[in-house]
Amino acid sequence: MTEYDYDLFVIGAGSGGVRAARIAATHGAKVAIAEEYRVGGTCVIRGCVPKKLFVYASHFSDDFEDAKGFGWTVGETKFDWKTLVANKDKEIDRLNGIYIRNLKNAGVEIIQSRAILKDAHTVHLVAEGRNVTARRILIAVGAKPNVDENLEGVEHTITSNEAFHLEELPRRIVIAGGGYIAVEFAGIFNGLGVETTLLYRGEQILRGFDEDLRTLLHEEMDKKGIRIITGQVFTKVEKTSSGLKATLTSGDTLEADAVMFAIGRDPNTKGLGLEAAGVKLGKKGEVIVDEYSRTNVESIYAVGDVTDRANLTPVAIREGHAFADTVYGGKDVKVDHSIIPTAIFSQPEMGTVGLTEAQAREKYDEVDIYKTAFRALKNTLSGSQERTFMKLVVDAKSDKVLGVHIMGPASGELIQAVGIAVTMGATKAQFDMTIAVHPTAAEELVTLKEKWQAPIIKAAD
Ligand code: FAD
Repeated sequence: MTEYDYDLFVIGAGSGGVRAARIAATHGAKVAIAEEYRVGGTCVIRGCVPKKLFVYASHFSDDFEDAKGFGWTVGETKFDWKTLVANKDKEIDRLNGIYIRNLKNAGVEIIQSRAILKDAHTVHLVAEGRNVTARRILIAVGAKPNVDENLEGVEHTITSNEAFHLEELPRRIVIAGGGYIAVEFAGIFNGLGVETTLLYRGEQILRGFDEDLRTLLHEEMDKKGIRIITGQVFTKVEKTSSGLKATLTSGDTLEADAVMFAIGRDPNTKGLGLEAAGVKLGKKGEVIVDEYSRTNVESIYAVGDVTDRANLTPVAIREGHAFADTVYGGKDVKVDHSIIPTAIFSQPEMGTVGLTEAQAREKYDEVDIYKTAFRALKNTLSGSQERTFMKLVVDAKSDKVLGVHIMGPASGELIQAVGIAVTMGATKAQFDMTIAVHPTAAEELVTLKEKWQAPIIKAAD
């Protein structure tokens, strides 16, 4: 029988890889994990966590404004970008340390190196110039930000990776993209006082999300002073004496101090040696896997963003855990990707779970919609015109709630709890049976009585 150096070799110490490595080791496997940058991966080091810290920072400008209506006089306020970045870095270092400790405590060997596949059982460690072998290999290398490589002046642009470490807070920024990362960063920079423009090539931001959320968020971002330009892309970015100049397809130009691409992320499979190992890739370079995260090569598995299924941390973690439990824990665990609650930390925040109205109408004969838009109680005194929105998508025949889409403060927290009900297959009648919590915005979710027939209130109402 062939002897391998390890039972499992994991490439990439991000959300999915770390969980898989740790659980496999706990089940008794001899495991090593290679990381070319920092243990913790995108989410911890330059994704969800630092992003959310920045979102918190950016909310204070609104909070100071809101305070006045409640009788507070807020003195002169000042924001210091360097303090925020330094404090954020301290927290990321702490988390990085915890991830390393947890891996070590589970008995996982951490190898600080880029790893490349040589064949179905062999990995080359670039930093150490040596090969190791493993009975199984898990690809958990995540994804990387896209930029328009052919754009003239692309070297002057940044991505989310650099946005977390800018030396200075830009006075003006143009962000290209319309996905959740683009709108989140637009909210962050705008809240921190940066003159912010969002440039999106499509007609409406947040493709794939419920149409009402897309329209309403666009309107709310407008109200907050974010300039949103749709149907345009950059044709050129140039350095000028005062910063950068971006030219658009319309011929218009935008002056900025930073130009950022947030136009999506591609699986990190380039140069990984997957071809050498015979692993099948999809059109975007994603590793094609089955419901057990198995590739077409018996010894190679893949989890997380590299498989381009649902590119979210909790999903990568769940996939990594399921893989380890199935292969090393004697359990048979598949991951259900059909219902995924998720938040968009835009301003206002949004939460969504299940089918959008359009998806439901395609799949079901008859769909009932319940929705409401209103100014939350707090805003009656704060004076803020920001609206809260709630929508239920219901299968008329079975009464099952197929989707919930909300916009407003703490929507991320709220959708996590609502996600339990939707995952359990709760019906509209069961939502209605639930006693409301008063006074909250969330009580609307259990008091929506009228099926929607008329247009919801618009920004001007
Ligand atoms: P990753 O966490 O990306 O880990 C992959 C690791 O592999 C990286 O550390 C990388 O350095 C390493 N690596 C790559 N190639 C090699 C190699 N050849 N050898 C060795 N190491 C290698 N998700 C949410 O759920 N909520 C959010 O709010 C959220 N916000 C985000 C905000 C931003 C700005 C970004 C960019 C992402 C955000 N995400 C969010 C997505 C989330 O970060 C990813 O879905 C998650 O990190 C995927 O985990 P993963 O294990 O697949 O890959």
